Formats: sequence, C-alpha cells, structure tokens
Amino acid sequence: MTIISKNINKAVDILNNEDVVAIPTETVYGLAGNIYSEKAIRKIFEVKQRPLFNPLIVHLHTIKQLEEIVSHVPPKAQMLANAFWPGSLTLVLKKKANIPDVITAGKDTVAVRIPNHPVTLELLKKLSFPLAAPSANPFNRISPTNALHVEYYFKNSIQMVLDGGECQNGLESTIIGFEKNEPILYRLGAIAIEDIENVVGKITVKNKEEKAPNAPGMLAKHYAPKTKTYLVDNLEEFLERHTNKAIGVIVLSENLNAENIKHIEILSRSGDLKEAASKLYSALHRLDGLNLNMIVAQRFPNFGLGKSINDRLERATK
Ligand code: AMP
Ligand code: MG
Repeated sequence: MTIISKNINKAVDILNNEDVVAIPTETVYGLAGNIYSEKAIRKIFEVKQRPLFNPLIVHLHTIKQLEEIVSHVPPKAQMLANAFWPGSLTLVLKKKANIPDVITAGKDTVAVRIPNHPVTLELLKKLSFPLAAPSANPFNRISPTNALHVEYYFKNSIQMVLDGGECQNGLESTIIGFEKNEPILYRLGAIAIEDIENVVGKITVKNKEEKAPNAPGMLAKHYAPKTKTYLVDNLEEFLERHTNKAIGVIVLSENLNAENIKHIEILSRSGDLKEAASKLYSALHRLDGLNLNMIVAQRFPNFGLGKSINDRLERATK
C-alpha cells in the first residue's frame, strides 16, 4: 500500500498527533514535525538516522511568525526575508528561549524559512505550530525531489508523504547566517549568491569548514549515491581511461557517445542552470538505481546555480 496522499487534512491530523509527515517544498521534500513536540522531533532524527549535532530548519507561513521564533532580526536579514520569502533562502538568527534545544542542536541560533509551495503553505496555515523539517532522506543519501523518492526511503517508517509533485528548484535552500549583523553564506543552494548580493552587497562565504560545521550541509561527505561518483573537468579523457566500466554520465547540455556510457543524463538541453539544478537529484536517483560501476559528472559552469550544483557533486564524490 502506498503512503503517498494529497489529503492535507490527514497530514494535519498526523502532525497534531505528534507524529511526522513528509512534505513537499520547492527545494526538496522535508520530513516534518511540530517544533514543540519532543516526540515528533525525536522521530525525525530516528527515521533519518541523523546525528543530534545536526540542527533542523523551522518552516513558517508568514514573516509575522518570526517574532515567535527569533529574538533579533538584523537589518540585512529583514531585507533578505522581504526579497526572497516565500522562497529557498534559510536565515540563521538568534533564537528565543522557547525554541527547544533539539531543534537547534543546542546552539543559540535557529534556522528559519518560508517555503514557496502552495500545498505546504496551506498545511502550515492549518496548524497552530511551525514545522521543523530537514530533507526527507536518510543521513548522507541523495535528497528527495518527488514523493516516490521519499516513499522508497521511508515506506516502513512513516505514515504519509503529502504529495506536491516534483520540486521546482530541486536543490536545498541557500543558508545565510549573521556575524556582527553582517551576512555569511553557510550553504550554497537554490538561490544563487549573485542574486543575494544584488540585495545586500558582497557577502562572506564560509561553507567549507568540516569540523563542527556552522551548517551541517557543509560536512564534506553528503548527498551521496551508493555508486562511486566522480566530478571531472575533462569527461572524454575520463571515459577513455575507464573503457572496461559501465558508466552513468551527467552533463549540462551536450550529448556524448562512447561504448562504456550505459546511460546519460542531460540536465538542460538549452544549458539553463536553473533547469539543470531542478533535475540533478532525480538524475542521481535514477543512475544510482542502474547498478553501474561508476557515475561521472562533467563540472558545471562556475557561476550562478552552477556553483551550487558543483558543490553538491563534490560532496557526492567523497
Ligand atoms: P537539511 O534540511 O537536511 O539540509 O537540514 C537542515 C540544515 O539547516 C542543516 O543541515 C544545517 O545546515 C542548517 N541549520 C539548521 N539550523 C542551523 C543553525 N542554528 N545554524 C546553522 N545552520 C543550521
Ligand atoms: Mg539534508
């Protein structure tokens, strides 16, 4: 029996009952629970097998609700919220005392965003509490961008995936924190740095720390397929060096023929990086299901969402 359903009221009941539901967002599917229910939050960590040092993102449906969650909003955070919410930008801000420590991994900051998905916005309006929701994948696996991906991972451990179709952006949110009221980029994501800098000017990037990371999306190994994965500058040379292997290939726009290519994923025939980002994880899920010897991706252009795609592929190769 499927756990996929479009019934929002059923999701409301499950969440009111302190259990978890997988929800659609425009970035990736999330595994959601009431931020104030210890039972629900514990279950999120259990189902994901996520270490407790990894904090969760809190999801709201109006900017007004920020007052309930955070104690201080720097002027540049307000500008970013006005510019990008609802949308794929997560802000890390000083938390209020009522936010449970398990949500924030004991930090004095909390990560928040308003997702841009009609189904989840409607769900949030029907609830009397915000939802904590990390991505709905087991720790270190590829994030889900449709309901079937979630069902595949969690059909034996959760009651319901609320179906909202394919995720439009298909990459996790961009995460921005603040030091002395100035924005710092903690995680590359679905909103390009260039777009953020258009609103608040040049920002500092700190997404490469590996010990006690500011944002755990920064752990070197993350988002990984089970099949050994490579990110290369020269794809043809790589294919020539591995003639006896069955290889799955990911490219931006150009088709390629070689005997050892068993499957090729072209992410955007017109070379559009936003379209490519939205298709990346589905391509990885498909290739990972084909029992290949290796997956290889040609490095993407190093600007806009190409940077975020390269970041995820680099972590997939560790
Ligand atoms: P996920 O949705 O699985 O990517 O998980 C949520 C992500 O939000 C984590 O991996 C962290 O990168 C980030 N995050 C959540 N809370 C905080 C916080 N207080 N400080 C920094 N990053 C956070
Ligand atoms: Mg995740």
